[in-house]
Amino acid sequence: MSVVLMENVHIAPVVGPEIPSGHIHVEGDRIVALGPGPAPAVPGATRIDGTGCLATPGLVNTHHHLYQWASQGLAQDATLFEWLVALYQVWAAMDAEVVKGAAGAGLGYLALSGCSTSSDHHYVFPKGRGDLLAAEIEAARDVGIRFHPARGSMDRGASQGGLPPDVVVERLDDILAATAEAVDAYHDPSFSSKLRVAVAPCSPFSVSADLMTEAAALARSKGVRLHTHLAETLDEEEHCLAQVGLRPVDYMEELGWLGPDVWFAHAIHLSDSDIDAFARTGTGSAHCPSSNGRLGAGIARVSEMLRRGAIVGLGVDGSASAELTSLSGEMRQALLFQRARYGPAALTARQALEIATLGGARNLGREEEIGSLEPGKLADIALWRTDGAFASAVTDPVCTLVFGSRQPPLARLLVGGETVVEDDELRTVAQDELGRAGGEAHRRLMRLAGERGFAAGKEVRS
Ligand SMILES: [Zn+2]
Repeated sequence: MSVVLMENVHIAPVVGPEIPSGHIHVEGDRIVALGPGPAPAVPGATRIDGTGCLATPGLVNTHHHLYQWASQGLAQDATLFEWLVALYQVWAAMDAEVVKGAAGAGLGYLALSGCSTSSDHHYVFPKGRGDLLAAEIEAARDVGIRFHPARGSMDRGASQGGLPPDVVVERLDDILAATAEAVDAYHDPSFSSKLRVAVAPCSPFSVSADLMTEAAALARSKGVRLHTHLAETLDEEEHCLAQVGLRPVDYMEELGWLGPDVWFAHAIHLSDSDIDAFARTGTGSAHCPSSNGRLGAGIARVSEMLRRGAIVGLGVDGSASAELTSLSGEMRQALLFQRARYGPAALTARQALEIATLGGARNLGREEEIGSLEPGKLADIALWRTDGAFASAVTDPVCTLVFGSRQPPLARLLVGGETVVEDDELRTVAQDELGRAGGEAHRRLMRLAGERGFAAGKEVRS
């Protein structure tokens, strides 16, 4: 069994006290010990000198749409609904080749920002365009981080009062069959799992109540988690009130969609009683501050949610509404949003680190396995170099990581004890090729969308 010893490192384990100069002992894919001082002598071990570095749990991304890597920079000044209406017509043109290139680049970019586990919410499956879910799963295997794809869906097109055009929605029966098939084919419930599938109808304004209840029944029968967008904008709240006479969280409660197996993306426009319902039921949420800022959607009540005991993780959201957003940067963005709105004590650097790690693990139902550095947990470890020439004027490495607008160099990212990133470079795949394939995916999608009549630059109608 391979042994890795990381030493002379400042450890921020998230659970338990920080260790200013200590070691982490990894055997196989697990952490077996950590503590102050030097590592024990283990013959044949790989030693990583962490002098001048901060070790944290690998970051956990709990909301994304990887395919959107191929549709960045469009509808730049639009509201969520305007942006969606513009982009549905682009996404209708995607195929498996676009998804493979986009997902590879998106996941590589995440790994370079210290992310060791990512979910993805893929909800557009145009007919006859190849196996889009298989394409992103293959990309995740190549990059080597843990992957939680959520099989998304939309069944309520414009002709049924929904927002998306009918061309991008699927039939309810087809969705349930394809989702069950995805769980059966890919979901691995084991402790060390690098692949777990969730069930994820898209949003209240693009799916039917029947799909929501059937999806919940399916997920619960198979023991997998549920995910959807919720309370992202006030437009959504108006839509829900007009169509079903309920605010979004009340609607979810009526559909059986609050519970410890559910996490929502965004959850911005919540009342006190909504927050209490999340806390009471163990319902999680993925805070995506850059995307929320980009779309002018609002600022989630994260500090209040934490104060009342609700689960909060972080997400970068799809790259089309959060271009080139790093997961490490979302800690800072979350902290600044809360402080700008609620004052300087609203969220500490360590709370920001906690939601980026343990909060995310709880969203994904994996707090026993990842999200903190503890003996027995999986060895998903980010090692940040916090002693650079300019950074040397800051003595608290967690402050360096969270407060700085430039990410400190990522000396190492271990996923299950295996090196995925070393010195800011992917070691599992050819980094430049991966990035270029993302660009190719963008150009391919724009060409395919152009053939359907989409014209970039004219995407938002006035
Ligand atoms: Zn989203």
